[in-house]
Amino acid sequence: MSKFFTEKYSSLTPYTPGEQPKDLKYIKLNTNESPFSPADEVCKAVEKEAKSLMLYSDPECVALRKKLAKVLGVKENNVIMTNGSDEVLNFAFMAFADKKNPLAFPDITYGFYPVFAQLNAIDYEEIPLRKDFSIDVNDYIGINKTIVIANPNAPTGLCLSLESIEKIVSSNKDNVVIIDEAYIDFGGESAVKLTEKYDNLLVTGTFSKSRSLAGGRLGFGVANEKIINDLNTIKYSTNPYNVNRLTAVAGEAVLDENDYYMNNCKIIIENREFTKCELEKLGFEVLDSSANFLFAKTDKIDGETLYKELKKKGVLVRHFDKQKIKEYNRITIGTKEQMEILIYKIKEIFKEKEL
Ligand SMILES: *Cc1c(COP(=O)(O)O)cnc(C)c1O
Repeated sequence: MSKFFTEKYSSLTPYTPGEQPKDLKYIKLNTNESPFSPADEVCKAVEKEAKSLMLYSDPECVALRKKLAKVLGVKENNVIMTNGSDEVLNFAFMAFADKKNPLAFPDITYGFYPVFAQLNAIDYEEIPLRKDFSIDVNDYIGINKTIVIANPNAPTGLCLSLESIEKIVSSNKDNVVIIDEAYIDFGGESAVKLTEKYDNLLVTGTFSKSRSLAGGRLGFGVANEKIINDLNTIKYSTNPYNVNRLTAVAGEAVLDENDYYMNNCKIIIENREFTKCELEKLGFEVLDSSANFLFAKTDKIDGETLYKELKKKGVLVRHFDKQKIKEYNRITIGTKEQMEILIYKIKEIFKEKEL
């Protein structure tokens, strides 16, 4: 730390992204990216748009918002586009949480929530999941806090029913409830349509997971128009051109090719069920996932050792040090071939260690 670093950030612990190795020799099952390339039309649109890079991007993202609103079945004024959904989450924390409205989220969830809370000096309560890693809806009924829930949750993959989400939203009318739907295309039911009924619901989404655009950085929020206006106040006070030209046209092309992406999700779901079954045959305990990853542990080998052994063999998965989940690994679902290699490598490790 330099002597110039402001005291207000001196105790900040930044988010730790999953490893992004510079060489391509690993099978990357550690950051929940899609194994599928963008559709050809997306690449063509980006190449064409590159010729206009001397001009600023459209801060309102009009064309993109129109298309996305149509796909989601809402009005364009109910949508804000952001630089990944991490950005809309940060905007929402800035806009809707403070000393009087502290945050509440599960103790096991997306690691960025406590970071954004600390960055914005907002108090937060981490509500413990049940022993089976499910969320107890009763813990969130009428708690008068700004609530953030990833649905499906990460890294567990478990999801809440729409009915449960509605109970939480309707019982906290004086606070914004943020539902982070980064993984909704792989299972679970979206709460987007509830935004028409509840003015305190913000649903966030991303093109990073199901739409093969993690490197493009495109996320969005859906809510009542007043919520969207507040988020825009924050956006125009930080970075009006938050979605660059190449990403905006890529996003539009992605939405034009919706069938391609939804079919990819189907393949991922099939591969997920295949992998779960294979892991269970090897003695793993695997949570029921509605996402593009599995959360698994086995008594045969501890979580960190398995992560390290797999890495030696060229397969990257995600291990978290947090006490409650340190026996687990989060495994992103890739192609069938990648998953077969994963299973083969685990079998090799078991054999070598005589497990
Ligand atoms: C990946 C992820 C995000 C954010 O992804 P972006 O790439 O910033 O859109 C948000 N929430 C959860 C739970 C995630 O796993």
